[in-house]
Amino acid sequence: MLYISTRGQAPELTFEEAMLSGLARDGGLYVPQTIPQMSHTEIKALAGLTYEETAFRVMRPFVNESFSDEVLGDLIVNAYAHFGHGARAPLVQLAPNHFLLELFHGPTLAFKDFAMQLIGQLFQDALERRGERVTIVGATSGDTGSAAIEAFRGLDNVDVFILYPHGRVSEVQRRQMTTPSEANVHALAVDGTFDDCQARLKDMFNDFAFRDEVRLAGVNSINWARVLAQVVYYFSSAVSLGAPERKVSFTVPTGNFGDIFAGYIAKRMGLPIDRLVVATNQNDILHRCLSTGGYQTSEVHPSISPSMDIQVSSNFERALFDAYDRDGAAVAQLMAELKEGGFNVSQGALETLREHFDSGRVSEDETLAQIAASHATMGELLCPHSAIGVKVAEDLRDAATPMITLATAHPAKFPDAVENASGVRPPLPHRMADLYERSERVTRVSNDLGALEELIRERRAK
Ligand SMILES: *Cc1c(COP(=O)(O)O)cnc(C)c1O
Repeated sequence: MLYISTRGQAPELTFEEAMLSGLARDGGLYVPQTIPQMSHTEIKALAGLTYEETAFRVMRPFVNESFSDEVLGDLIVNAYAHFGHGARAPLVQLAPNHFLLELFHGPTLAFKDFAMQLIGQLFQDALERRGERVTIVGATSGDTGSAAIEAFRGLDNVDVFILYPHGRVSEVQRRQMTTPSEANVHALAVDGTFDDCQARLKDMFNDFAFRDEVRLAGVNSINWARVLAQVVYYFSSAVSLGAPERKVSFTVPTGNFGDIFAGYIAKRMGLPIDRLVVATNQNDILHRCLSTGGYQTSEVHPSISPSMDIQVSSNFERALFDAYDRDGAAVAQLMAELKEGGFNVSQGALETLREHFDSGRVSEDETLAQIAASHATMGELLCPHSAIGVKVAEDLRDAATPMITLATAHPAKFPDAVENASGVRPPLPHRMADLYERSERVTRVSNDLGALEELIRERRAK
């Protein structure tokens, strides 16, 4: 199977090529040419399998000839070996027909580990086979960067540079990025917002001379391989609640639209999903867009759920591509308008989006109240992102359909907000209890493309 760009002007690539390059050369995102289908019988056969076996069956048809069955199976096993829970993605019941999918048992305590740990394995195997070396540059609002550094630290064929907004990530997030001592890891604190970091990253990818010189590779949530790894837990959780005989719905705390887009892919593959609910914080461009059709950017307002402090949701482009019947020229036009401040989704495309997605927005006060309420009534300490999901799910769910809300981070990753809301300071899991004592290493840089490129040229291993 080949992968095509959402803007229709880039060469078609294999899975491995799309994974190694990240962003397409026409500025678009890679998507599979067709979506492989899983039959009722095939989905039913997932019941009782381990997470790794489920991952193999769900991902196999997308990965095709790039990796052999045996290699892919081994890489999946390695990827999840360092998770702190045997189920990898366990379900906890919150209320009648409402379940929490705990995605925070990986090495950096957020769901990003599911994709990043696998991508680290896939990159290492592919680059060794090809005898190549790449420079991975990522932009992060906190969790992607720590997950990427954790997945790539010490690997032979990779330098990893992570851009994060200075002063706008939590202390645990920052320390997870700045304390690894391996020489191939570089944490860069940028004077700007997450959107600035993401914009500079896109600029680097569009600077073809630089891109080729340093062999730039991206592992942001625009990387198709990351979306694919996240499709798996939609299957594993739905099947444990009775799919494919029974439909389920999902609520997903959303920023860059990567995680919820993975749920949409699961649905397109044949998993019987009723609703996919987008939950946003006060940075609510997605909620406004799904409500009104207008996708207008505004300032980012820093919140207690910083991993969702995003105004331009990169992966939404993939959903638009499908909603516009895969018309790359139409998507390119929308993205050009976005550069001028925003666009309006056509009536037809909006109706298509609404067939799959609902949305809700949660204020800062409501987030704190939900953390307190979940702790008081369910004994469950939620991180602020997960609390936003639970609040929207409680507001929008219907009693008949099981609702699965994704818990995207461990409460100990955001201890100040959680303590402020609940009076309880969540402790770090034992395996990382010394994080606050490790020494930090970080470079502060201005929000300037030239300065960033110079730094990367200088620091990467030649
Ligand atoms: C990244 C992240 C999100 C948002 O996920 P997207 O795929 O960007 O929508 C939500 N919660 C946490 C804790 C995250 O790290």
